[in-house]
Order: sequence, then C-alpha cells, then structure tokens
Amino acid sequence: MITKQKGTYDIYGDLAKKRAYVNDVLAALCEKYNYGYIETPVFEASELFHRGVGESTDMVKKETYDFQDRGERSITLRPEGTAGVVRWFVENKLYGNMTDPVKVFYNMKMYRYERPQSGRNREFTQWGFECFGSDDVMSDAEVVSLAYNAYRLLGLDDITIKINSLGDTESRDNYRAALKEYFAPHIKDLCPDCQDRFERNPLRILDCKFDAGNEIITNAPKTLDYLNAESKERFDKLLSMLDMMDINYEIDTNLVRGLDYYNHMVFEVVLNDSYALGGGGRYNGLVETLGGPSVPGVGFAMGYDRTILAMEENGVNIPINDSIDVYVLYVSDTEKETASYLVQDLRLNGFITETDTMNKSLKAQFKSVDRYNSKYMIILNDEDLKSNKIKIKDNKTKEEELIGINDLVDYLDMHM
Ligand code: AMP
Repeated sequence: MITKQKGTYDIYGDLAKKRAYVNDVLAALCEKYNYGYIETPVFEASELFHRGVGESTDMVKKETYDFQDRGERSITLRPEGTAGVVRWFVENKLYGNMTDPVKVFYNMKMYRYERPQSGRNREFTQWGFECFGSDDVMSDAEVVSLAYNAYRLLGLDDITIKINSLGDTESRDNYRAALKEYFAPHIKDLCPDCQDRFERNPLRILDCKFDAGNEIITNAPKTLDYLNAESKERFDKLLSMLDMMDINYEIDTNLVRGLDYYNHMVFEVVLNDSYALGGGGRYNGLVETLGGPSVPGVGFAMGYDRTILAMEENGVNIPINDSIDVYVLYVSDTEKETASYLVQDLRLNGFITETDTMNKSLKAQFKSVDRYNSKYMIILNDEDLKSNKIKIKDNKTKEEELIGINDLVDYLDMHM
C-alpha cells in the first residue's frame, strides 16, 4: 500500500464542504474590497524565492522543496504567495501606468519542508492578498481591516491583531545596529540558529521559535524606540485609523516577522492570545528586489488550514449541507428508465438528487433514503406511471401525494 507523504493530507467529506464554505466567505469579502483573484504556478525558478524571501531566512535555508527538473533548471515549490505575485506584477509590467493600486487575492497550496505537527504541514493552504502602488497608511489600514474582517466573518471573534512598526530603512538600520550591540555579549547563550542570525539579520532573533520567552530576547531593545519622527508619525496615524475602524489590536514590540522584505507595519493575527493564524505587513522594497521599479506593496497571508482548525476548536458552527433533496426509488426496468429521466430533470432544475445505481432491493433503497437524509422520496410504480403519475413523500411530515409527473418540479419549488 502506498500511503500519503508526511505532512500532507487528503481533503474530502465534511472538510471539503467546510473549505468550500470558507472559500465562498473569503471570496465574497475580497470582492467587497475590490480585490481580483489570482493564482500563480506551484513551481517557479528557485531564484525567485531565494531572492524574494531572503537567502538567510529559515524558509529558504531549511524549508523549501528545491529540485532540478529534466531540463536542469533549479525549481522550487511555492513556499509562500507574495514572491510569485510580485513576479507576476513585474513580468506583466503592471507598474506602467498606475493610476490606481493593483489589488489581488489568492487561495493557494504552499510547500515547506517542516516538522509536521498540529496546524503545521508540509503541504498547506494560504489565503492571502497583496496591494501594490500605494504607500499611504490608508492602504495599510485597508489590509489590516480585510484580514480582521475575514476572521470575524468566519466566526472567530476572539482574534487580536498584534502589530508593530519596523519603520523606514533609516529606522530599521538604526534598530539593527542597536540590536547587534545589545546581543553581542549574550550571543553564546542563544541557540545556534540565533548565533547565525546575529550576523545575517539580528531582527530575526526576536521571533526565534526556540528562544521564545528567553529573557535576553524579552529585554531586547524595542523597534518603536528607534523609529525616526516620520516613521513614528506614520505608525500613530495607522493606529488611530484602526481605532476609527473599531479593530481590536495590540502593539507587540517583539513582532518582526521572519521575512527580509518587511518595513513599516508588520502584523499577526492571534487567536485566544496564542495561536498565529496569519501575518502580513508592508514590503516597499520587494518589487525592486525582484527586478521591477520601486513600487510600494502591502499584504497578508492567512493560514487557511489552521483557521479551519481554530473554527472547529472554538465551536464555530460551519454551515455544511448534510442532506439531499430527493431520492428516487424504483424496482422494475420501466420504472428504472423513468428514474433515469427524472433524476436528470431534477438535477438540471437545481435539486440535489440521488437514486439507486447498485441494483438494490426496495428495502435497501429505503435505507439509503435515511442515510442520505433525503428531504423527499419519489417511489416509482408502473401502475401510477401508466397515468403519468408519481408518488412523492415528504420524509419529515411523512405526508404522501400522487402528483402528475410533469408537475414535479413545480411541486418541489413550492414545497421547499
Ligand atoms: P508565514 O507565511 O510563515 O507568515 O505564515 C502565515 C500563516 O500561515 C501562519 O500564521 C500560519 O497560520 C500559516 N502557516 C505557516 N506555515 C504553515 C504550515 N507549515 N502549515 C500550516 N500552516 C502554516
């Protein structure tokens, strides 16, 4: 027997229905914000992610699925959504005539070679969105609001937006220098990864999973103390906009996010004060890093699988349909022919319809009606069919009626 790969899972049954529901909610919400749908390829040139996400990130160093294809190209399976979307933006020169921002959302599988555990898989889905072309806090606020409203609409009311600002390049550089000075005497007490981060990007020590909670990290200098006046004013403006929008946020000065490309606002969505359900921020340098001109960008990615887990764990009632509308029962060959016509007619008229395809006895067909939780059943009978009649029974009230076969659709429309 061949089994599924570690860190992957099959999507079927109720989970498939729940995901379809979540997709619908998120797509409808994105439409309200005027974001268009995008899908980028599952595989891209490795260089895209190595350059876009950052060579020194854990994601690129340890987690990407890299391989050579048969044409000896270096290929990487998409570990996150932003780099591919930026590649699309640059490749299609969408920066050419930017009178309005370019806004897109995606719902895509991602691949990271991580140690699988609850809520952490090797193949997983992220729903996310990106907005290019505006450097105004108004677009920061729009992105936070879209993320926030998505969780709220899905019934996760207890979420908090943890937010921080890394400031502009000058502020970030000053902060980086301060961190290096602070960590230098403590570096041997941190994990080997953090010792490596110290040289490459000391900001990332702050969100090390291994050293989380370590006093050395908790007492480190805070980004907000290193913001220059402009960056500080910008962050204050954003916070007052979030207040206006009634968004529940908390400043988290240790939040820096793992990727190289963030500046100014970074944020994460946390449930019940623990679980990270998504994250995002502003990345003004990324389009340039990936070969385009200097175009500002801001975006967010939701851990889709984790969000559904959180909905289940928090008792959110996810509306899934666990019944069908009609089951058509028959015995004789002529009844069977009529059944084939009827199910076709009913399905085309929008009713979820089932019939027997396994030559079951009538008794066994009645059992199927119950298992499928069918609202109605139609019991075909040659005698009735001679006068173009069929017997329909409401499974809830147990009421039975003999109606004209051509009146069936009208009958169901009226009764359902
Ligand atoms: P990131 O792209 O790492 O900022 O992740 C954004 C969100 O995606 C996280 O907050 C998680 O909810 C989710 N996520 C990240 N990695 C995984 C994974 N391996 N499995 C499932 N969800 C993940």
